[in-house]
Amino acid sequence: MLQPLLEKSEALYFGINGQVITFAARISFFLADMFEADDITATYKGARCKMPCHTCIVLQSDLNNMSLKLENVPHRTHENMKQVINDGQGKEYSVHSVENSFWKFLNLNIYEACVPDRMHHIDLGLFKYQLEFTQDILKVVGGTELQKKFDDRLRQIPRFLGLKLLHKLGHLNVLAASDYRNIMKITLFALDEIFEGNEITCKELCELYAKFSKMYIMSRKEMYTEEDLKIFESAIIDWCIDFKKIFSPLSTTDCNFPKLHSWRYHAVPAIRKYGALNGLSTETYETLHKSYVKTPYRLSNRKNVMRQLVNAVKHKELTSSAKKVIHRKAKGFEKVLWELTLDNIDQKIKSLKKSENPSHSNFIEGLSQLISTLDTFLDTSSQESESDEFYIKIYDSVHLEDRHILRTTGEFQGKE
Ligand SMILES: [Zn+2]
Repeated sequence: MLQPLLEKSEALYFGINGQVITFAARISFFLADMFEADDITATYKGARCKMPCHTCIVLQSDLNNMSLKLENVPHRTHENMKQVINDGQGKEYSVHSVENSFWKFLNLNIYEACVPDRMHHIDLGLFKYQLEFTQDILKVVGGTELQKKFDDRLRQIPRFLGLKLLHKLGHLNVLAASDYRNIMKITLFALDEIFEGNEITCKELCELYAKFSKMYIMSRKEMYTEEDLKIFESAIIDWCIDFKKIFSPLSTTDCNFPKLHSWRYHAVPAIRKYGALNGLSTETYETLHKSYVKTPYRLSNRKNVMRQLVNAVKHKELTSSAKKVIHRKAKGFEKVLWELTLDNIDQKIKSLKKSENPSHSNFIEGLSQLISTLDTFLDTSSQESESDEFYIKIYDSVHLEDRHILRTTGEFQGKE
């Protein structure tokens, strides 16, 4: 696979619009989760080997050391790893004694080129740990009762635009990265003064979440000045030190997590070298993988799978562009029933349910899906809301251009 790049390492010539244009093909970086990075670099998998980091030669026992001097974390290079393997010391350095194909590439350090991917590192890694440890603390302090109180508080936070939640709480192990991102936004509020006393105080825990948010928001920037990077780095260090201090007593490995090490020491250097982490995310590719491979695979009957996958994707591509979209434009509105802000929808639903003359269940159902539908609409139509101060008007009926009438009031529900 790499052969063409090696053979044409000087230059590639393409004829474009009748002109010969010279291209230089280079491997820049690899988007990979930890296991994939270990494969590419031929380093040992798992946190328990002697030197688990595929980028530097830090000792396993120093993974949780958040104040190493830079000279004590020398990087792996093609040269020093070749030497290690020639000397028969591969095991000492947790690197497989094989020739790595990427050594042939000049202008590349394969050990640095596998960059920390934010989704696996943070959303599905360090934030998940933080949340799990928090649940452990709650359990120690107040048993399942307190854990339940925490879950209830999370659920009670009114929905707002950009917050899709939260029925899946309680099955924390099956959450996706986007679920964690939603939980990130509100955990601090659910934790605030939820318990008193204890060796690790509630205040310390809340401060950790505040530091996390500060760091996470910075990690999503599109551009960094050198000054920004310094602030970001100290936010990372600040959070990492507290994370270790607070959770070490609860961790069987004393927080000896490769992800913690890699985030602390390798995230900012990777940005300096390759640009913002937003561009360095496997998320886009994983979503593509999901909609173009995983889902069609599940729908196939597992026989002659490749053919079925190709057909499914072809079908998807053809139909999505050819699909007839019906635009139903509104022409005129009738009586206004209510005007609501988004914040008040939950309250409205509650009062409708309690009302002596209850509305049709479709009506309540419609209202309760309003926010998530609005979210999807804004997402898919790429519209940015100018402000979060949305205002909803509900009419009893709407006349459409095709002369149909949409009605919302009770007496029409359930009739064809
Ligand atoms: Zn390292």
